[in-house]
Amino acid sequence: MSDTLIDRRQFYINGSWVDPVEANDFDVIDPSTEEVCAVISLGSEADTNAAVAAAKAAFPSWAATPVAERVALLEKLTDIYKARADEMAEAISTEMGAPQTMSGQQQVGAGIGHLKSLVRALKAFEFERPLGDHAPGDMILYEPVGVCALITPWNWPMNQVTLKVVPAIGVGCTMVLKPSEVAPLSGALFADMMHEAGFPPGVFNMVQGDGLGVGTQLSGHPDIDMVSFTGSTRAGVAISKNAADSIKRVALELGGKGANIVFADAGETAIEWSVARCMNNTGQSCNAPTRMLVERSIYDEAVARAQAAAEATAVDVPTKDGKHIGPVVSEAQWNKIQGLIEKGIEEGARLVAGGPGRPDGFDKGYFVKPTVFADVDPKMTIATEEIFGPVLSIMPFDTEEEAIAMANDTPYGLTNFIQTTDKDKARRVARQLRSGMVEMNGKPRGAGSPFGGYGQSGNGREGGEWGLEEFLEVKSISDWA
Ligand code: NAD
Repeated sequence: MSDTLIDRRQFYINGSWVDPVEANDFDVIDPSTEEVCAVISLGSEADTNAAVAAAKAAFPSWAATPVAERVALLEKLTDIYKARADEMAEAISTEMGAPQTMSGQQQVGAGIGHLKSLVRALKAFEFERPLGDHAPGDMILYEPVGVCALITPWNWPMNQVTLKVVPAIGVGCTMVLKPSEVAPLSGALFADMMHEAGFPPGVFNMVQGDGLGVGTQLSGHPDIDMVSFTGSTRAGVAISKNAADSIKRVALELGGKGANIVFADAGETAIEWSVARCMNNTGQSCNAPTRMLVERSIYDEAVARAQAAAEATAVDVPTKDGKHIGPVVSEAQWNKIQGLIEKGIEEGARLVAGGPGRPDGFDKGYFVKPTVFADVDPKMTIATEEIFGPVLSIMPFDTEEEAIAMANDTPYGLTNFIQTTDKDKARRVARQLRSGMVEMNGKPRGAGSPFGGYGQSGNGREGGEWGLEEFLEVKSISDWA
């Protein structure tokens, strides 16, 4: 192996870095160069079992630690995470291609935000509460669910890892984290940080691996009490089925096909904001506003503005500072996105920006042209399937009712968006959208608000007190007082 390659072939089990039981080298590809940048090992059943056994052994004493002790360790972790933020930004840029400015501010920043807001929620959480005045003496206890498998994707790696590890550990669970094999470097660095923070051995374990191997071994493992999964709906289905025999709890955060309803009275910069939000992270966000529904009276102007905004979206390498977008994560994703752009053209959508192939100036790297389709029919493939690339579909509507029906005409239900300066209309429409989140007029949701979806976008809620409750059992006791 060359000296410049990052070697991350060990797993973090029971408080130490250990070699895989059986070596199974797997190359990590830098998406901007298409070259191997690191090597990990894909875990085997023996590695999974060792990690689960360590987590199981650590559970009783960790569950019994005072909350204040767990809070203190999480606060130490927060300090370490902040101190090593540059290393983390670099790992994420290398493994999945986020430009370094974006990686530092948004990718790493999301982790800091979740650490802070989950610790705040943990401090305020009442783990023991009386049932109510009508039932004197009855007590409700919230207790950690047990040993958790945390399975995460590559697109917002630290956002996802912190949304799972922090609440699980905070409420007293022990765990095995399996980061995405496509972007495993940030997960390994996070394990370094957990070690540095000094969590007791076995509380947090990390095994690298793929879905068919470690992922499946975890979801079917008899000693795993809960799987918390973020990723594709396809894998969410497979995990749910595999977990069913042991009746473990399964929390799912899956895909999306967010509608963005732009009314004629939208704010001045609504179209430019909408395009930027769709293209952010090179379109690789489950909550991206990928279907832009525009009121017909402003439709032509909106298409022209979206075209200009997409054409002004710079594409460049992750190692440069700036507001550009980077490559998509892998050859498989690049091919999938190209296929969907071709499909949009074939099915008759009007291509107004971007299109197939790499942007000018790139002959390697998984770079994609910021692409906009207008006159998209709601039944077309590009209007129904999650593309997970910088591709926007625009379609017109005539009435508020029609816009709501179009927005809800999807098996997904993660985030929808509304652009209007009429507050009454905004609230009326928000109530009727079948999604876990609605973002209005470009205003981000607050720290600690629940993140999750309806329908095929999953059944979980992460963040804040909802994110803590996800990892808790509820025990009801009589004659306590
Ligand atoms: P993916 O489903 O291919 O992989 C996600 C993780 O699951 C990886 O760690 C992978 O190894 C593992 N995995 C795959 N198959 C598995 C199986 N059968 N059993 C157990 N584990 C398995 O998804 P991805 O390509 O890494 O991520 C992109 C997807 O994630 C998109 O669909 C996106 O919308 C979704 N996502 C959802 C949210 C959310 O919060 N709702 C957030 C980010 C990403």
